[in-house]
Amino acid sequence: MQRTLSIVKPDGVGKQIIGKVISMFEEKGIKVIGMRMLSLTREKAKGFYRVHKDRPFFDSLTDFMSSGPVVVMVLEGEDVINRVRGIMGATDPKKADKGTIRNMFASDIEKNIVHGSDSPENAATEISYFFSEMDING
Ligand code: ADP
Ligand code: MG
Repeated sequence: MQRTLSIVKPDGVGKQIIGKVISMFEEKGIKVIGMRMLSLTREKAKGFYRVHKDRPFFDSLTDFMSSGPVVVMVLEGEDVINRVRGIMGATDPKKADKGTIRNMFASDIEKNIVHGSDSPENAATEISYFFSEMDING
């Protein structure tokens, strides 16, 4: 069993598709084992995306991520890191496969509805950024 962190970003919350996003994971047998709604401060958003701090889109991305509430989730399942990324689709919705979350709901490469960790190491770091072991019901 593997765990990953997913986030319904402020655009997904604003579009009122929190439930749709979660359904797309649950329909594939992926379990939600931790979940919380919160608002990121700009500092907390910058900390979360610190690996991208030298990218040209960093300020815009962290402004966007702190522009409204998000839903953070711990997901569990077999090969869940790769499977969640597959269900999300490519970062740029124009390149995302048909039927993926980003293909169906995202408006652009920045406002792309959903986050999913990209490796076991990053999943562990990102989960602990939002959750203590007591908040996780795996
Ligand atoms: P992913 O979320 O697919 O793992 P990255 O880790 O590369 O993508 O980027 C993190 C987030 O930064 C993306 O989900 C998106 O919101 C934003 N982003 C990535 N590339 C760009 C870009 N070229 N312009 C604007 N925003 C971007
Ligand atoms: Mg990423």
